[in-house]
Amino acid sequence: MAANIDMHTHSTASDGVNSPALNIRLAAEKGMGGLAVTDHDTVSGVSEALCEADNYSNFICIPGIEISTLANGQDIHVLGYFIDHENAEFLSKLEQLRTVRNKRNEKIVKNLQKLGFSITMEEVAAKKKSSSGNIGRPHIAEVLMEKGIISSLREAFEKYLGKGKAAYAVTERISPAEAIKIIFDAGGVPVLAHPGLYDQDELIPMLKEQGLAGLEVYHSDHSAEQEAHYRHLAERYQLIPTGGSDYHGIRNGTVFHGELGNRYSDLKTVERLKSFSKKYR
Ligand code: AMP
Ligand code: ZN
Ligand code: FE
Ligand code: FE
Repeated sequence: MAANIDMHTHSTASDGVNSPALNIRLAAEKGMGGLAVTDHDTVSGVSEALCEADNYSNFICIPGIEISTLANGQDIHVLGYFIDHENAEFLSKLEQLRTVRNKRNEKIVKNLQKLGFSITMEEVAAKKKSSSGNIGRPHIAEVLMEKGIISSLREAFEKYLGKGKAAYAVTERISPAEAIKIIFDAGGVPVLAHPGLYDQDELIPMLKEQGLAGLEVYHSDHSAEQEAHYRHLAERYQLIPTGGSDYHGIRNGTVFHGELGNRYSDLKTVERLKSFSKKYR
């Protein structure tokens, strides 16, 4: 069986461009061994993906999530794997997170208006690729691009939407430790996403104490040096090293982060993660 399982992908359930089923089909057609569905603050794409994965033999589809949290004023993402995506308490917690996300989106749009741009929440919402999907900064970037305010999505983040940039906004968010607990309570396995994007390595031993099981060592936005560094930290803190592309599909002609399957975990790693999930606890 193919060994490469992409542990970080987005679908139309959040800010990905492809439906959950299409991501599964693309991965299977590439000969990959599986993928984890890890949309921002939602599991609404998981059922569709699981259904589609049934059509392929020896293809693993892992129900997952990527939860947005805040630590020291910075967005920190916590991945959760083998989660019970039908757990009522979990779903209601996610609903709360999405309320916070929507407030944050409104703040960003207001900031853009203050900068003199004509942009509305309705225009941003119209960029959702699925009615049940939630809204993220890439949707805002698409509107800015369509209006000719910026000429690439990268420029949208560099000038307006990235951390500390002109229209950036944060709202109160849960801490990474709280996300770990939410994931754990839903039977899942918490992994710190793309640590190379934070410059807060001290979080790693702290979150290990809170139940963190893994570290996303291999990620499209990590350099080879960063991957070596985090592989070393994963070893030091006894965290399972994972890998994922953070695939979002092709938006306005560009693949953000990385191509599907360009980072992955092997089956042994996935089995190790699975052994930390509720079914095996
Ligand atoms: P949000 O969940 O609304 O905070 O948006 C997060 C998403 O925006 C990430 O998953 C990335 O796809 C994208 N993103 C964040 N920062 C950047 C950046 N500096 N350059 C490109 N994309 C980014
Ligand atoms: Zn995203
Ligand atoms: Fe992320
Ligand atoms: Fe992501």
